[in-house]
Amino acid sequence: MTQNSKIWLSSPHMGEEEWKNVQEAFRTNWIAPVGPFLQQFEQGLAERTQNQACAALHSGTAAIHLALHLLGVGKGDVVLCQSLTFVGSANPILYQGAIPVYIDSELQSWNICPEALETAIKHYCAKNKKPKAIIAVDLYGMPAQWEALQMLSEKYEIPMIEDAAEALGSTYKGKPCGAFGHFGVLSFNGNKIITTSGGGALVSNDVDAIAQARFLATQAKENTPHYEHTTLGYNYRLSNVSAAIGVGQLQVLEDRIQAKRQNHDFYQALFGDHPGIQFLEEPEGSFSNRWLSCILIEEEKAGFSAEKLRLHLEKQNIESRPLWKPMHLQPLFKDAPYFGGNIAKDLFLQGQCLPSGSNLTLEEKERIQVHIKALF
Ligand SMILES: *Cc1c(COP(=O)(O)O)cnc(C)c1O
Repeated sequence: MTQNSKIWLSSPHMGEEEWKNVQEAFRTNWIAPVGPFLQQFEQGLAERTQNQACAALHSGTAAIHLALHLLGVGKGDVVLCQSLTFVGSANPILYQGAIPVYIDSELQSWNICPEALETAIKHYCAKNKKPKAIIAVDLYGMPAQWEALQMLSEKYEIPMIEDAAEALGSTYKGKPCGAFGHFGVLSFNGNKIITTSGGGALVSNDVDAIAQARFLATQAKENTPHYEHTTLGYNYRLSNVSAAIGVGQLQVLEDRIQAKRQNHDFYQALFGDHPGIQFLEEPEGSFSNRWLSCILIEEEKAGFSAEKLRLHLEKQNIESRPLWKPMHLQPLFKDAPYFGGNIAKDLFLQGQCLPSGSNLTLEEKERIQVHIKALF
């Protein structure tokens, strides 16, 4: 490895079994569409997230789309969604012709603020336009305030979709992320804590809904010898080859979580008590997989801004990145209603995601350390 090779924010990290599994899929010609690895992967994901059932899909975005479809979200319906998130959480609201309404974050977990959420729910209920679904996210692996959120979901009888795309392996009061909504959503995109090169999953205790998700994900082909279709479907099913990678990755998930958490410890030690730097602490009862290590930078106190840090590292071929830009600030959603204050916006302006690969080497960490210290 050259001295100045690129250090990525979070790159794929294969274990011992993935390649063997893929070869096994080839040897047995279970290339597509389904196959034994797909079943095994789904079973493993259901178990890991304490759900009764799982449908493995092409992407996490597809999983959110199917969840909205299964909840009957359609044209003109209101869907309440965390603003500080990746656009994959929100795009499926538009696929369904529904109206996204964005909600601010709280400072404890950076996730959807229960108070702002309730304000929005009351607002739409008073207008006789009760929201059809809520999308809450476990951002960067940190669990949202699930106790308060589940209470709101029950009180107002609005189903919850938990976007746990970044939070596989995280827990809240002992229960795994992915288990807190009517539906849980996972992603195995290339930069996630485990990857199938591309993929996602929908998990739920609603076994019938997951069976329906599989049906919708395979073009809604009816159980007839010819191709009979009575409903609109999609081509969203994960292939057995991708699932073969996933089965191997699931075996090393605990190692990946450990490495990610060690990255976070590394950065906490590195920044030490440098003024103006703040980490996202785990609230009591929350365990984060620390998918990405993020900091908030107060420029006046720290002596550098988030953007200055990013450019400084970029010159050294080290990738870092701002936090997700909130959806209510995106041109795509400029007309969407928004409830809350400036928390999500300020997090975006002050935040920076640091290199967080579970495969970061000691040498790479030393390089990061030297160049960050040079800024102090
Ligand atoms: C990655 C991600 C998604 C989408 O997953 P894909 O598999 O890339 O479609 C959705 N929400 C969040 C918060 C994500 O980080």
